[in-house]
Amino acid sequence: MYTRPVSRVPEPQSVRALVTGASRGIGAAVAQALAAAGHPVVVNYRSNHVAAQKVVGAIRFAGGEAVAAAFDVANATAVAEAMAALGEDPRPIAIVVNNAGVARDAAFPALKSEDWHRVLHTTLDGFFHVTQPLVMPMVRLRWGRIINMASLSGVIGNRGQVAYAAAKAGLIGATRALSLELAKRNITVNAIAPGLIETDMIADLPRDKVIPQIPVRRLGTPQEVAELVRFLASPRAAYITGQVIGISGGMG
Ligand code: NAP
Repeated sequence: MYTRPVSRVPEPQSVRALVTGASRGIGAAVAQALAAAGHPVVVNYRSNHVAAQKVVGAIRFAGGEAVAAAFDVANATAVAEAMAALGEDPRPIAIVVNNAGVARDAAFPALKSEDWHRVLHTTLDGFFHVTQPLVMPMVRLRWGRIINMASLSGVIGNRGQVAYAAAKAGLIGATRALSLELAKRNITVNAIAPGLIETDMIADLPRDKVIPQIPVRRLGTPQEVAELVRFLASPRAAYITGQVIGISGGMG
């Protein structure tokens, strides 16, 4: 019987992971989980230096390897400069978690043009700027993991989130299309669709109103999302690609 040769799975320490928006919330937990899995981690953030250094410090304290990299994923020049600097390390970045995101909620008639653009630029341009330069090195390595942080809102929509839902739905479309381009190369591309996760992003939501709408009757934790990312990034998830995986306590 013919069995297709499977490319060698790289050792975790030989493959760097880049997590965008990793100074806080879900991204911070993802960076720590991937470091615990043995990957050197690049902790990207936009402006919160203190929080990013705390994440790097926590990873190092736990025996892992991490560096902070400040750049705005929506800014093509800033990303290109950062990627060039990160390329000086010979270990390829073969895991990328496109997690940086912003929400600017408003009823559609009141949605400001600048907020529409900020949300789309961060999510969609950010995905493009960060992921494209990493793809050919992954193809050469014949191994890679691209994990995009979408949202339940991008799957089913949500009032007050026209921009956010459009951006996340776009990210899901990009995930599906890119997964088809890269499947033969042992590079998986998946999206995660969290429901409500306890981070700064949802700090203003009234808990007494939202928790009754969640079947498991609680918010999710960043660590629960990070465990899913860790699995998708691992060799054990080699047969999962082009999927949108919900983590929402049964919502949606
Ligand atoms: P968060 O607590 O608000 O943290 C956002 C992170 O993204 C911060 O590290 C921030 O860095 C970074 N960031 C924002 N804009 C950036 C940019 N242009 N370039 C680089 N970094 C940028 O958010 P979160 O709740 O952890 O959300 C993480 C992801 O999960 C987002 O994509 C979000 O849409 C998605 N999500 C969250 C929930 C939820 O309930 N929390 C649900 C579904 C999906 P600085 O602090 O340095 O600016």
